[in-house]
Formats: sequence, structure tokens, C-alpha cells
Amino acid sequence: MREQASILIIYTGGTIGMVQEPKTCVLTPLTFENLYKYLPVLENFHYHFDFYTFKPLLDSSNMSPAFWVELAKVIEENYETFDCFVVLHGTDTMAYTASALSFMLENLNKPVILTGSQLPMGWVRTDGRENFINSIEIAAASEQDTPLVPEVAICFDNRLYRGNRTTKFNAEHFGAFVSGNYPVLADVGVNIRYHHEWILKPNFRKLKVHKELDSNIAILKLFPGINENSVRCMLATKGLKAVILETFGAGNAPTVAWFLDVLKEAVDKGIILFNVTQCSGGTVEIGKYETSVELGKIGVIGGYDITTESAVTKLMYLLGCGLPKEEVERLLQVSLRGEMTV
Ligand code: ASP
Repeated sequence: MREQASILIIYTGGTIGMVQEPKTCVLTPLTFENLYKYLPVLENFHYHFDFYTFKPLLDSSNMSPAFWVELAKVIEENYETFDCFVVLHGTDTMAYTASALSFMLENLNKPVILTGSQLPMGWVRTDGRENFINSIEIAAASEQDTPLVPEVAICFDNRLYRGNRTTKFNAEHFGAFVSGNYPVLADVGVNIRYHHEWILKPNFRKLKVHKELDSNIAILKLFPGINENSVRCMLATKGLKAVILETFGAGNAPTVAWFLDVLKEAVDKGIILFNVTQCSGGTVEIGKYETSVELGKIGVIGGYDITTESAVTKLMYLLGCGLPKEEVERLLQVSLRGEMTV
């Protein structure tokens, strides 16, 4: 463990940074100065902390690709100065931000740990204190000067998850996240147990930050009774380049003729269709059931066990790279940052 690790804490907004004004009871954002007041234990760390605050602070429901670019820039500009980064973020879209950062930060060799909380930092029962302190410990952890977690991860409720494998699945419990298709990277108890076999290894290449994201995409979540008009309308969206088809089970969809025709027309127009399961665990297997055979024939691309959050941001990233359609489709089926099991 580096006693002197230098950590940049990046505060984007969200519940974790809120404290309650004693007189008015209004929730206001925490400043770096009063961070030590709420977390005096920070003094015991002997790390060097610096703080970057976004203005305005965002409820993460207002997160956007433009904001992800700003966040990636902050990491890029400070990459050589700091050993690691802790990003304080609202929980609602944290899994999207973590996924986006994982694609944008190519050759990342330092920890970028996102955390937040379900209760504001200023509340007695807050989970923010524990999440924050665990994130700092994990971000700073190294062996022979090599960080133990050189990837984008989410630290929450005593667990460390690969960022692009997580989904927010509970709006109330302290355990707000799940990683249905990938084991946790670390468990926090009396000791922090790192599961090294699941953590990405550093490649020691130079960081490359991708700042072009193309959001001309959509998600089409299937449900029994989905109607032709709405599917047609969505697929007729001007400028649309790719659609995530959120399918049933192992990648299954209705076999009714109008549905397959509309999809075929979209593929013929050059729209990429990416098949991602609605289930929070398990994988898409096109051709396993009769109800997915036709999807394969039409040219729908299977997303294996990728999360929707990861699929959204991977598409934005790949489309932003300006690659030919065939190359985007090929890379959708390759695990670029450990986001899926191929
Ligand atoms: N709405 C908040 C946000 O995502 C919730 C949270 O922080 O947990 O910014």
C-alpha cells in the first residue's frame, strides 16, 4: 500500500455529496472544506487528496455524453499527476457513466473508482461514508507500485464491481448494484479481499482518451403485445444508426411476420441491431430457440451477456470512432474492456 498515494476526488453530484443545513433542513452540496468535518477519518489516511468539483453539480438523471467527455478530460488532464481517481456520482446512472468511461479511457492503467450513496453524507445513517472510505482504500491499493485495480470500477455496499458489468437494480437498499454476469472484483470486510483473477491487468500503454460519442441510437424493449406502429416509428427515426433490441431470455423475439419485416427493413437501411437480453443474468444465444433463428438470418448482432448500460455506451463509443458499419458490428462481438463474456 502506498502511504503517500495521491488521489483526485472528482465530485459530479448525486446524493452522496449532500448535507443537511441544520437550520433549514435543506439538502445542499458538500464542499471540500467541510468534507473533513463529515469525514474526520480522512486525516488518518496520510494520502494526498485533491478535489475537483463540477459546476453545476448534477443529479445523475441529467447525465449526458457531453458530461462524460468533460469527466474523461478531467481524468486525462490529471492522469500523470495522480495515482488514482475516485468519482462521486449519483447512483441512478452510475452504471452508464462507469461503462462509458471504460470505453473512453483506452489503456487505462490506474484505478477510476466510482461511488455514491443511497443516503446523503450528512445523515447519521448514511452509507456514503463507508462507500467513500472503501473507494479511497481500494483506489490507493497497490503492490510494487502497480495499482491493484487498474480499471473503471464501482464500489458500493462493501463490494467492488467492474463498472461496465453493473446495473442499478434497487432504489432503496444500500446494496443498489448488481453484476449479474461477472464476479465481484473485491469484497470488503475486516480485510479487503481482492479477487485478482477477475481484475483486468495493466498493459502499461499510454492512455488514449476517446472524446467522440455518437448518440444516434435507441433502445427497443420488447414486450408481449408490442405494436407495429411504435416499432416502425422508432426505426424510422431520422439519423438513427443503431438500435439495442432488448429481447426475452436468451435473445428471443416474436416471430410474427410484420416484426421480422420491420427489422429486416431497418438492417437493409444500414441500421445496426444489437440483441441484448432483458434478463439481468445470462447470455444471448441467437439460434438457440426458434424465436431467435430469424433474428440471426436478418443480421441482428448478438450481444452475449452485455448489460444494456454497456451496450448503450459501447455503441456510442464505436459509432463515435467513425468506423465502417461492418467494423462496428465486428467489434460489438469482441470484448474490448471486459464488458462481456464471449
Ligand atoms: N437522483 C440521485 C442521482 O442519481 C440519486 C442518487 O444519488 O443516489 O443523482
